[in-house]
Amino acid sequence: MPELPEVETTRRGIAPHIEGQLVDSVVVRRDQLRYPVPKDFEQLMGARIHCVERRGKYLIVNTDYKHWLCHLGMSGSLRLVDGDTPYKKHDHLDIALANGRHLRYHDPRRFGLVVWAGTTPQAHPLLCKLGPEPLGHHFSGEHLYAKSRGRKGAVKNFIMDSQVVVGVGNIYASECLFLAGIHPKRAAGRVGLARYQALAQAIQTVLGDAITQGGTTLRDFVNSDGQPGYFAQQLRVYGRAQEPCPQCGSPIHTQVIGQRSSYFCKQCQR
Ligand SMILES: [Zn+2]
Repeated sequence: MPELPEVETTRRGIAPHIEGQLVDSVVVRRDQLRYPVPKDFEQLMGARIHCVERRGKYLIVNTDYKHWLCHLGMSGSLRLVDGDTPYKKHDHLDIALANGRHLRYHDPRRFGLVVWAGTTPQAHPLLCKLGPEPLGHHFSGEHLYAKSRGRKGAVKNFIMDSQVVVGVGNIYASECLFLAGIHPKRAAGRVGLARYQALAQAIQTVLGDAITQGGTTLRDFVNSDGQPGYFAQQLRVYGRAQEPCPQCGSPIHTQVIGQRSSYFCKQCQR
């Protein structure tokens, strides 16, 4: 599933090729995504694309006609192809640009979405309640500490809540809690400020590294072949049940927390 680093990598991959471009035509082959693609999406024809931004796992494409949002769902990808590239199964949407390239949306499971964003995208109902960006100025250990007071639920579920902070998916949650030495089932309200500062730093390190790593796959976003450029991460604990902990050597433990697989070291995480 595309996570925040993949979405940011997508943004960086497509931005230089679509910003400033005029939309030549729009082809919607299948409009039934998580929400229907707007009936008037073809009206983008003739509009100029100003810029592509990201908020959480949403891409915001600003044009001089209307702005639109795209979410990649479980299996979506957005890439640039040459205009004469034949479309494949699950290539649901093409935005043809005046430079001859097509921005092509592919999504086998169709949990993604393409919708108008309104005049102020940040105020859109899908975006307005999102917590801070993990790599932005509003995110800190103090923020996590303040948000968590009185919360009895597991800290792992707490940091995966997009109203607390965006972008900490299931895999990243295990990795970040390991780095910060915090047991995933500890009650969020029972973690102190210093430990939340370590956790905030771990979140920034893990997501920052993933984005840096994603940079090496950028060419995949302007290539018509192969898989989308989602990258295999170097993972410390996730998926490594029974393997030695990289810190102390005792076997990595796995347990389902909040219906999601979690990996942690019982010795190093308290
Ligand atoms: Zn350990």
